[in-house]
Amino acid sequence: MSHIKKWLSQNLPTPIHQIQELQFEDKGVQLFLKRDDLIHPEISGNKWRKLKYNLIAAQQQQHDTILTFGGAYSNHIAATAAACRLAGMKSIGIIRGEELSKKENRTLRKAADDGMRLKFISRENYRRKTEAAFLETLGKQFQKFFLIPEGGSNELGIKGCAEIMNEVQEQFDFICVACGTGTTMAGILSATHHKQNVIGFPAFKSGEDLEKVLQQLLNTDNNTADSCELMSDYHFGGYARHTPELLQFIRSFKAKHQIELDFIYTGKMLFGVYDLIQKDFFPSGSKILAIHTGGLQGNQSIWELFDY
Ligand SMILES: *Cc1c(COP(=O)(O)O)cnc(C)c1O
Repeated sequence: MSHIKKWLSQNLPTPIHQIQELQFEDKGVQLFLKRDDLIHPEISGNKWRKLKYNLIAAQQQQHDTILTFGGAYSNHIAATAAACRLAGMKSIGIIRGEELSKKENRTLRKAADDGMRLKFISRENYRRKTEAAFLETLGKQFQKFFLIPEGGSNELGIKGCAEIMNEVQEQFDFICVACGTGTTMAGILSATHHKQNVIGFPAFKSGEDLEKVLQQLLNTDNNTADSCELMSDYHFGGYARHTPELLQFIRSFKAKHQIELDFIYTGKMLFGVYDLIQKDFFPSGSKILAIHTGGLQGNQSIWELFDY
């Protein structure tokens, strides 16, 4: 358990790269990308940020096993399995969907290779994953473990994500980030004075509902979450759904800038940023910082399917 430094010491702060496009010059805006995708080859972007203080806390409390939750292509499952391997800890993944136990899937195969013990449960049971009675049955089955919620979504996760902003010295007028559980956005909000300039791009339908979630995550009744902006029109049909237009955007972005985006989160977020620039959402003179939250391990599954 003394290996935690081995995975913690990474190339931080992550670099900030300017993205040059002719249309940005026309609009008088500048776009920059904070490359959290470069934090670690196996523990992608914001998942590394969210795991950091969770793993430290687990070790401080003398735990040698992490238990967490996720779906079939979950970046969080992949990241947790790899981080635990590097930290010399055991990991258990509670996976949504019993049928998956018989299917081959890159994310889950890699997690298993990293030593994660996978337990497949029905979607119905998975929905109960935060209920006390359900957690009690897990406690009986697996004995002692440190629990990390789905997506690393807890206070320690927020604390880790707040550090994204500590690394940003320059002034930016807007901060753009993709949202799943909203934990990364909550971290950024907690470390930002001008909350109205933080723009979240939910990767799923009904993204407006994230406002309430952010409020809960930030443990506040005031209007912290009200005053930030959610762009809920860039879900491309829903979570993990995609369109040829989105895949084309990701492909041409890579060809032009040599930066890969994932199709679940960062591709949709940057598509949205480009679209908003086009629609003059950002006043001329704006400096925009988008966070590349990583997530590239999931791409391998889709490119296999779509002959990319
Ligand atoms: C998990 C993930 C997100 C969503 O982060 P939340 O903190 O759950 O909102 C965004 N981008 C990438 C690449 C992810 O893997």
